[in-house]
Amino acid sequence: MIEKVLVVEDEPALQETLLYNLQKQGYEAQAIGDGRAALDLARQFKPDMILLDIMLPGMDGFEVCKILRREMNVPVLMLTARDDEIDRVVGLEVGADDYLTKPFSMRELMARVKAQLRRSSLIREELEKLKNAENQPHDILTFDSLAINQTRREVMLSEQPLALKPKEYELLLFLAQHRGQMLSREFILERVWGWDYIGDSRTVDVHVRWLRQKIEHDPAKPVRIVTVRGGGYRFEG
Ligand code: CA
Repeated sequence: MIEKVLVVEDEPALQETLLYNLQKQGYEAQAIGDGRAALDLARQFKPDMILLDIMLPGMDGFEVCKILRREMNVPVLMLTARDDEIDRVVGLEVGADDYLTKPFSMRELMARVKAQLRRSSLIREELEKLKNAENQPHDILTFDSLAINQTRREVMLSEQPLALKPKEYELLLFLAQHRGQMLSREFILERVWGWDYIGDSRTVDVHVRWLRQKIEHDPAKPVRIVTVRGGGYRFEG
């Protein structure tokens, strides 16, 4: 992914130098010199980072930063010309992520840009992980419209709870945990009913039939719990 940097700077020479150096570092960069127009460009361009001068025509950098803060979550590095601006820059009202006082070296600037982008990509990754963890807790097995919640011992089909007998639930869970594997009737019997169970492998067939009536769209043509000729059953997720 090529990261995008927006430069908001009204001094033509500095704007050009910034663009040149950012592009040389492999960033996709765009520049603009007017504060108000910078808002529109930011909304269109959706940058991953913004370099923002303070004294700008149209609208000053403080105001631009405050508005962007409300609209998008993007790191802002402010370019200040005077030391007395720094308090406002880092204050809560404006809330820039970083700042550099002019004049600054390009090397220093590039190091700061890189650090900010790295930080926000780590945050994005963390958020992504959290989101995935919430959507897919490890105790829930899902197969399209079928979801088995192991903590609650609950099975949902197309978001409707299924009423399963305890052995039907255990059989379904066992099959689902071994999805894609051919399981013989004897093996299923041993693992789901236990060694000491007085019964035979027809017990497995009967329970599979009951399960199919509950979870298969067409129990006569099962696609989830399939019969393996001469073997046993296989769960297809
Ligand atoms: Ca300026």
